[in-house]
Amino acid sequence: MKRYILALDQGTTSSRAILFQRCPSGEARMVGCAQKELTQIYPQAGWVEHDAEEIYASQTEVMIRVLRETGIAASEVGAIGITNQRETTIVWDKTTGRPIHNAIVWQCRRTAPQCEQMKADGCEPYIRENTGLLIDAYFSGTKIKWLLDNIPGARERAYRGELLFGTVDTWLIWRLTGGKVHATDYTNASRTMLFNICTQSWDENILYELDIPKYMLPDVYPSSHIFGTTVVEGAEIPIGAAAGDQQAALFGQACFDKGEGKNTYGTGCFLLMNLGKQMCLSSHGMLTSLSAGSDKRAGYVMEGSVFVGGAVVQWLRDELGLIDRAADSEFFAAQVPDNGGVVLVPAFTGLGTPYWDMYARGTLFGLTRGTGRNHIIRAALESIAYQSRDLADALLGDTGMPLTSLKVDGGASANQFLMQFQADMLDCPVLRPEIRETTALGAAYLAGLAIGLWENTEDIRKQWVLETRFDPHMGGEEREQLLERWHRAVSRSREWLRQEEI
Ligand code: ADP
Repeated sequence: MKRYILALDQGTTSSRAILFQRCPSGEARMVGCAQKELTQIYPQAGWVEHDAEEIYASQTEVMIRVLRETGIAASEVGAIGITNQRETTIVWDKTTGRPIHNAIVWQCRRTAPQCEQMKADGCEPYIRENTGLLIDAYFSGTKIKWLLDNIPGARERAYRGELLFGTVDTWLIWRLTGGKVHATDYTNASRTMLFNICTQSWDENILYELDIPKYMLPDVYPSSHIFGTTVVEGAEIPIGAAAGDQQAALFGQACFDKGEGKNTYGTGCFLLMNLGKQMCLSSHGMLTSLSAGSDKRAGYVMEGSVFVGGAVVQWLRDELGLIDRAADSEFFAAQVPDNGGVVLVPAFTGLGTPYWDMYARGTLFGLTRGTGRNHIIRAALESIAYQSRDLADALLGDTGMPLTSLKVDGGASANQFLMQFQADMLDCPVLRPEIRETTALGAAYLAGLAIGLWENTEDIRKQWVLETRFDPHMGGEEREQLLERWHRAVSRSREWLRQEEI
């Protein structure tokens, strides 16, 4: 049995390839990593694109590089697992393989007016109940429509069956298999706003509403599935998995059972909870999507998102110049005994779950003559934890299940101050695993399952190893006081912009 798995992690800012080895104990050990930055294209305010060719080229470049750097032959790799930025939309010509336009990235707001129109037309309840999502420019549906509306001749070509649509996983699979396989997985499909998560098939009504022909959509499979094979340096390797990044991270954190959840502290924060086989819709601004796994019928996850998580630390560094490195925020925050009454609401791009307020903007409250930079740094870190606590409250409201512990990952989870404050705000233990590359790890496990390198999820669960446990120490009164002040600050930051100012 070949013991190596190659995880391809195609993210918003970079393409990465991480090589894992299954040790005899069953542990997945990281043996190498290669990364390449991806060019961000901003054609106008609020628009974000990537070059789809660059996505593929950078991904294959890092794949080859990690093999060469580690000296592992491609013939020793048992499978490739793909994990990717979700919702980003690519449409290409089936014959030439050429994209008809740059990839429209999930962050791109160009279809916001189209979304407003759909809401005005009364589409929201149907979309909520059948896709688990809100109508928003994030999701792929209106991005495809935009391409078909705006690229001359595109809709006619699509109806003639000449064009294909894919999220990034689909594009990579299609290219890696030399145009033989046009497929996606449940997790990515469930973020398009075109996929019915109840019937687990493309939704004809939504396709009709958006005037998108079904021929251009990929076939949908479980995340752990042999999608096809690709040839790397002369060796034929199966593509054993595809999964959207957040669901892959949930899998990498071994959250396989109902009620198990994780929070990722990257640029934004994403808290996902496994709902098992039972679909549940949120009335607190959470989204319902499909989970990664190997079952023919996918399970459900509930997801809450914070737009600005670790990014608030980047802001301290790059815009305010208060720190030189993100990691220094921990030291400075600990120099003051408390936040000194300062509350920062980092609503730089509006607020996500549970508020969904695109008119909110960042605000800094409680400044006095005694406020110093350490208070602001501390308030910035605290804001990440408060926002995550809001996600946990929304989850509790929807599922009735309080968190008994929270697994964490992502760049900012390295921050001890933040993790301790998070445990205090949640009043439950925060568990940080040894391997924090959980997105790539999840993709590797899913691919490994597909080829039998791990037998089942129980086999994988045993491999989750705790690095640090943060227990709550704060008293209830202090916590409530801080949360009350946070919510007061949030309410004042809301609906700051007028519609015409956005
Ligand atoms: P993404 O995958 O979204 O690019 P990462 O998981 O790589 O994000 O995390 C990067 C983010 O985490 C950045 O926004 C950075 O500011 C923040 N970050 C990284 N290290 C720390 C730290 N020690 N303390 C606080 N924030 C951090």
